[in-house]
Amino acid sequence: MSINLYFPTDYLSILNRINEIDPIAYSKTRNYLNGKVTYLSPYLSKGAISTKQIMDNVLSKHTLTSAHNLIFELAWREYWQKIWLREGDKIFDDLINTQTEVVNFNIPKNVINGNTTITAIDNSIKLLIKNGYMHNHLRMYVASICTNIAKAHWSSPSRWMYYHLLDGDLASNSLSWQWVAMTFSSKKYYCNQENINKYCSTSDKETFLDKSYEELSNTEVPKILQDNIPFLYTTELPDTHPITVDPNLPLLIYNSYNLDPLWRCDLNANRILLLEPSHFKKFPISDLVLNFILALGENIKGLQLFTGEFSKLIADTKFPIIIAKEHPTANHYKALFDEREWMFPSIEPTGNSFMSFWKKCAQKYLANTFK
Ligand SMILES: Cc1cc2nc3c(=O)[nH]c(=O)nc-3n(C[C@H](O)[C@H](O)[C@H](O)COP(=O)(O)OP(=O)(O)OC[C@H]3O[C@@H](n4cnc5c(N)ncnc54)[C@H](O)[C@@H]3O)c2cc1C
Repeated sequence: MSINLYFPTDYLSILNRINEIDPIAYSKTRNYLNGKVTYLSPYLSKGAISTKQIMDNVLSKHTLTSAHNLIFELAWREYWQKIWLREGDKIFDDLINTQTEVVNFNIPKNVINGNTTITAIDNSIKLLIKNGYMHNHLRMYVASICTNIAKAHWSSPSRWMYYHLLDGDLASNSLSWQWVAMTFSSKKYYCNQENINKYCSTSDKETFLDKSYEELSNTEVPKILQDNIPFLYTTELPDTHPITVDPNLPLLIYNSYNLDPLWRCDLNANRILLLEPSHFKKFPISDLVLNFILALGENIKGLQLFTGEFSKLIADTKFPIIIAKEHPTANHYKALFDEREWMFPSIEPTGNSFMSFWKKCAQKYLANTFK
């Protein structure tokens, strides 16, 4: 089985990818590096499609039981999004526990260079940089190596991973790293070589992870992970070209988290893709990710690019109405907000347990099928 790391950006290909989901094969193989995962996260994270669109499509062809594992994973995405809405910028700091045993706030150099000596990890880091994707299990391994083995604080390594991911999503990313580092969970996540070999079909031996879980939780930082470098990445945004707007028509604002071609597509409106330098200064992305965003924007008819802050966009022209999609990155827009499309719109996380969130979702929306 080959690993699919091609991410087309035309809308028809994205819809085809949704249509091709095999939820049964997904359930059986998702944890394996070459498993039949959907590769839909880049489109979900950039707001080109929604979790509900995927769930509705899959349930139109498969039973709830067959689709269980996929919907369960999609629910993780909704859960992280809702934690972000609830906690705001607090998700960028240790959320419920302070990370313990931190020796630096940098990134292990041999992780950045894909030179850890662990075959599956090094290959997946090289693919992340080249293609902008990493399998979920590998993300967990890399996060565990950085935080719990190299004892780096999760914040810089997570920003490094976000920089490269086509599906970079500040909630899924920061909160998953916090889950691994136990700042948003009740125990640190460790992986060992045996586990990596099993899910990645490798046979590495005598690596710094070739130990029991107990040994791993009590070891010094391996020499190969000691060199570290700070996060110093930046994004060069495209220059803004003059835009042509009709001041009598509404203004619809798109951004890197809302690139939905179906959103108010029948409305006669000005459509602007807003790339705010202040956002990308805080959360840089690679050229690969930036080009992916621009290419997804091509699915939206009449979309014009504006590089600058929201206040600058509206400084010179008065529009009858400005509309955006609700999202934490759009909170400062002075606009009317349309709701995002959720699978489980009325369920909010109470406390910090995904499973209690999931149970409430299943009870209300999935005929109580999954407990
Ligand atoms: C350290 C770490 C960092 C991560 N960073 C991101 C990120 O920046 N952006 C991002 O979208 N996901 C992130 N994830 C979650 C997950 O790894 C990816 O969503 C998934 O690998 C995407 O591939 P896929 O679409 O083929 O997933 P599939 O397995 O096909 O899953 C279908 C969809 O379900 C959702 N999903 C699946 N697993 C998870 C999960 N563990 N958490 C949340 N949602 C999930 C995603 O939206 C995904 O597209 C991260 C996970 C970890 C452990």
